[in-house]
Amino acid sequence: MAKRDYYEVLGVTKGANADEIKKAYRKAAIKHHPDKNPGDKEAEDKFKEAAEAYDILSNQDKKARYDQFGHQAANSGGGYGGGYGGGGGFSMDDIFSNFGDIFGGQFGGFGGFNGGSAGRAPVNQGSDLRIKVKLNLKEIANGTTKKLKINKMISCDKCKGSGAKDSNSYSTCSSCNGSGHVTQIVNTFFGKTQTTKACPTCHGEGKIITSPCDKCKGNGNIKGEEVIEIKIPAGVGEGIQLSVSGKGNAAFHGGINGDLLVLIEEEKDKYLIRDGNDLIYNLNITIPTALLGDSIEIPLVEGKAKVKIEPGTHSGKVLRLKGKGLPDINGYGRGDILAVIDIAVPSKLTSEEKSLISQLANSASFKKAECSEKQNIFERMHNFFR
Ligand SMILES: [Zn+2]
Ligand SMILES: [Zn+2]
Repeated sequence: MAKRDYYEVLGVTKGANADEIKKAYRKAAIKHHPDKNPGDKEAEDKFKEAAEAYDILSNQDKKARYDQFGHQAANSGGGYGGGYGGGGGFSMDDIFSNFGDIFGGQFGGFGGFNGGSAGRAPVNQGSDLRIKVKLNLKEIANGTTKKLKINKMISCDKCKGSGAKDSNSYSTCSSCNGSGHVTQIVNTFFGKTQTTKACPTCHGEGKIITSPCDKCKGNGNIKGEEVIEIKIPAGVGEGIQLSVSGKGNAAFHGGINGDLLVLIEEEKDKYLIRDGNDLIYNLNITIPTALLGDSIEIPLVEGKAKVKIEPGTHSGKVLRLKGKGLPDINGYGRGDILAVIDIAVPSKLTSEEKSLISQLANSASFKKAECSEKQNIFERMHNFFR
């Protein structure tokens, strides 16, 4: 879905200051407020659109990025797991929790706004767990499966997560008469508004445990451990976070488990340096090899390969082994291995060697030799660092 210009959404000019932006958003939010336009999908969309525009334009960093790069940049959170990117937009709950203050006293009790629904019971949510997994180059190249024992909150096996001794261990919550939510009448800008929120006594469950499970003390979850198999796709890199749904901490009273977040770390390889999907190898050759040529073995991710050094090879030359790098995580082919030639120069010579080299230095070929690739040096550096 193409997005409208945020300035246009709020009806302000690009030069508008923070106060003008805030006022414009307030105006738009009041106009399109769902309480004022019940059941009007278009008004709801406009309300959300204005909230999104305000979120970006009221934040100096996001605004600067948006001004420079447009929608995509402004919404990308910088790294993985960044909030509401990609056009999903805001939920009503987000809007009220993020910008409730903007309405000031005028909108009083919007905290409990539930999109007009008759108080859906909140579901207990277990917290997310974070772990780090270190991978070597071979595992990154092929993808791997890791079996890890993880300490976490697990569902209580005795009560199956309910927290109650048995099915008769409940009584109906007297605060909400079992409905799980309580209703309040609030005076707002538009007159009296009915708001609904989760019952604070029973946490929205509608019932109270009278005899709790003795193993989990009525919580439904206990400290424990679980062996979890984590499938890691080929081509991942340092800092990438994978999410394993439902493998985080078990929730209070048998709610929804949190997620397991797996942060990838790369083990440094002894020989190959990663550059995106390419791998760089520093290929040291001797002066005689540079002059006379040879066939030399170099390490791959797995195994070895022979590369041919042409006679008269210069330092800095790059030999490209196509497709011997890492697979792209999104399946766009494979990178290469770039073997960068470095000519090893001995730092000490015997007097005999010195005299031999001196003789060579005066030979015709040595005298007229020049750095024939001089003109390419910038190009080669560019290739190397790209
Ligand atoms: Zn229990
Ligand atoms: Zn209740």
